[in-house]
Amino acid sequence: MMNSRRKFINKLGFVPFFLKTAANNSTVIKPIVISTWDAGIRANVKAWEVLSKGGSALDAVEQGVMVTENEKSCCVGLQANPDRDGKVTLDASIMDHHFNCGSVAFLPRIKHPISVARQVMEKTPHVMLVGSGALQFAVQSGFKLEPDTLSPEAQQHYETWLKESLYKPTPNIENQTNYPKVSPNNHDTIAMIAMDSFGNMAASCTTSGMAFKMSGRVGDSPIIGAGIYVDNNIGCAAGTGQGEDSIRIGGSQRIVHYMEQGLSPKLACKKAIEKIIAIKKEQAKNIQLAYIAFNKKGEYGGYALQKGFTFALYNKHTANKLIDAPFLI
Ligand code: ASP
Repeated sequence: MMNSRRKFINKLGFVPFFLKTAANNSTVIKPIVISTWDAGIRANVKAWEVLSKGGSALDAVEQGVMVTENEKSCCVGLQANPDRDGKVTLDASIMDHHFNCGSVAFLPRIKHPISVARQVMEKTPHVMLVGSGALQFAVQSGFKLEPDTLSPEAQQHYETWLKESLYKPTPNIENQTNYPKVSPNNHDTIAMIAMDSFGNMAASCTTSGMAFKMSGRVGDSPIIGAGIYVDNNIGCAAGTGQGEDSIRIGGSQRIVHYMEQGLSPKLACKKAIEKIIAIKKEQAKNIQLAYIAFNKKGEYGGYALQKGFTFALYNKHTANKLIDAPFLI
């Protein structure tokens, strides 16, 4: 079989595209899963369990981030910090290898917004549902309505914030020092990207957004192209950090585009961060923004604006390990 294939190739004098792809396929490092921050280590364990049994990248990225949605966290799930009105609202998104995508934003009282996002993708003709519409859809789809209360930790953080911070619904970001900036120690949004053993990719992201945000504020996490992006012929990317700035540059889609142009995942992430610095200039030092990415070969990378960003990588060579991302400022 092998011999006749070789003879056929020799006769042609070149390696046809379809055989080239099959040959290169064996060098692809897959499955692979990468997720943001230290909590990514625990989320990766679940995702790897799915992937190592031959499960799909889509199931892996959904079930992986559900681990973080269940944990105590400042910035993911219903136990997270609330907005300025004392309400926790959640944003989440998911995307598969066929450009199918779904997201929810400003969603209260649902434990697993990532699963609602997946239902939006699979059960509706839409990509994004927000607020009361998203909640109505979730409840109609069978998701349990959780109590409208804060976790004890979040309650305490909120009371402290109320004491020390002025409630200014329209802050002038330049002058107001207590505007809730995303700094390295106040966020752990989880974004996850994975490729399964069939070479199919998927991405997910779930967050409560910025602590003490204005009611109704939505960040990059549920915005396809900003928070996550997948092009199965090229690669995946996902981001965390100050969502407004990732939206400004269409961060994740930009990184996939850079990879399409031939940049490695690491350099593609770096170039997106450089773009933010070029736009924000002096203000860049006050924010944190970070990306993770991998390409079709399973090569991976991450980059942050500032020191302190970690991402968790799991593949068969590295097992599950936390990596300190390189940074620019
Ligand atoms: N990107 C998230 C947002 O802006 C926050 C984060 O990653 O910490 O909502």
